[in-house]
Amino acid sequence: MNQSTNPIEESVDLLISHATICTMDASRRVIRNGYVAVNNGTIVRIGEGNIPTDIRSAQTIDAAGQVLLPGFIDTHTHIFQSFLKGLGADHRLIEWLNRSALPYGALMTPYQHRLAAQLTCMEALKSGCTTLCEFFYTDQNPQLADGCIAGMEDTGIRSVFIRTFQDAGEDYGMPACMIEPAEQAMEEVSRLRKDYADRGDMLSIWTGPDVTWSTTRDGYRTMLEYCLSENVRYAMHIDETEVDNAMCREHYGQSIVPMLDDMGFLTDKMLGVHCVNLTDDEIRRFADHGVSVSYNPVSNMYLGSGAAPIRECLDTGVNVSVGTDGAASNNTTNYLESLKFAALIQKGFSRDAARITAEQTIAMATNGGAKAIGMEDRLGSIEIGKRADLVLFEPRHLTSIPMHDPYATMVYSSTPENIATTIVNGRVVYRNGSFACGIDERDLAGAIDVELDKLRKQLADN
Ligand SMILES: [Zn+2]
Repeated sequence: MNQSTNPIEESVDLLISHATICTMDASRRVIRNGYVAVNNGTIVRIGEGNIPTDIRSAQTIDAAGQVLLPGFIDTHTHIFQSFLKGLGADHRLIEWLNRSALPYGALMTPYQHRLAAQLTCMEALKSGCTTLCEFFYTDQNPQLADGCIAGMEDTGIRSVFIRTFQDAGEDYGMPACMIEPAEQAMEEVSRLRKDYADRGDMLSIWTGPDVTWSTTRDGYRTMLEYCLSENVRYAMHIDETEVDNAMCREHYGQSIVPMLDDMGFLTDKMLGVHCVNLTDDEIRRFADHGVSVSYNPVSNMYLGSGAAPIRECLDTGVNVSVGTDGAASNNTTNYLESLKFAALIQKGFSRDAARITAEQTIAMATNGGAKAIGMEDRLGSIEIGKRADLVLFEPRHLTSIPMHDPYATMVYSSTPENIATTIVNGRVVYRNGSFACGIDERDLAGAIDVELDKLRKQLADN
C-alpha cells in the first residue's frame, strides 16, 4: 500500500486542536498551536500544527485561543464540609471544629453525603480539577462512605477516597460516634477496597489517622502494619497548628514527626497534610523517606494556622501538592483560588516576590499532585500513554485579558469562568457551564437547603 496516496486512518475518541499546550512534562514543553488525540481514555498522539489527515475522531474540540493543560489534582478536602461553608467562621481550629464540622458531621446521612459530594466535585471540576482526594472522617457507619463515593462517581471525577479513623480524642471534642478501634477501621478499609475493586484507577481507596490528638500509638501501628502489608497509601493531618505537637509531647514526650519516624511511619506511601510547622530537621526526614506534602494555603490562612515552609520543602526534595481542604475552612472548593493563595502566601510571608513562581505553582498542582497520589506514571502531564485528564483554559474573559504568559494568567488572573472544558479519563465531564452528569446547580442547591433545614432542627433539638 502506498501511504502517500492512501493514508492509513487512525480512529480516536477525541481530538483537541489548535490549543496552546502546556504539557508540564519534564522539559516543560509548551506547544503554541498543537493537537492532542485521545483514545480509550489515554493520550495517543501529541503534535504541533494542524491535525494530521490520517486521524479520524468521533469528537473534535477546536481549542483555538485556549490553553490545554493537565487537570489539577486536589490532594485534600472533606466533602461533607460543603454543607458548612462559613459556619464557625472567625474561630480558632478546635473551637471551629466544635462549632461546625464535628456536630454536623456526626448527624449527616448517606443521602446528605451524596449531595455534598456532588456539590464538592462539581465545583472542583468547574475550577479545573480532574482528581479529588476525599479525606473522610465522619463516622463508622459504612453507608456514609458509600453515599460519599456515589456522589463523587455521579460527577465523573477521578477519586481518591481516604477512609480515615480516630481511636481517641473525646477530650478534644471528637464525638463518640466517630471513635473506633483501628482494627475495626482497617476492616472497613478492606471492605471498601473489595467492593470498589472494579473501578481501576478511577477510584483509589486509602486510609490514615485523622489527627495527632485523635490517634493512639497502637492505632498508628495497626494502620501502618495494614498499609505496608496490603500496599495501601495513607494520609494524615500533621503539624497544622502547634496543638499537634503540644498534645504529642504531653502524651508521648516527643513531637509528632520524630515519633512517627521512630515508628517507621514516614514512607513514600504517606501524604502529610498541612505541615505548617515542620522544622528543617523534619523536612529532611520527609525528604529522606519520600513523604509527600499537601499544601492547603487558603485553609491555613482561614484558620490562622500560618504559612507552610513550601520553598524549604521543594529545595530539600520533598514533593509538594496543593489541596483546598474542606469547604468549612476555605470556604469554597475553587482550586484556582487556592493556587493564587499558594503562590502569594509564600511571597508575602518571605517578603520575596521570587520565592515561588507561577510555573512552579502549576507544577505542584499537576506533577506534584500526581506524585502525591502515586500516579505520576499516569497523571500530571500531557504525554503519550498517560490518562487523558485534561483542562481547557479560556483566557478571553475580563479577568484574564490579556494573556502574556499562560502560567501567570492561570495562577494570578483566573476564576472558574476561565475553565471551558474538563476531561477525565478521556470523557468530557464539564463544558461551557454544563456538566455531563446532568445535575443542575440550582436543583442541587435546593436539595441541599432542604437537608440543611433538617440538620439545623436536629441540632436545635439535641
Ligand atoms: Zn483537612
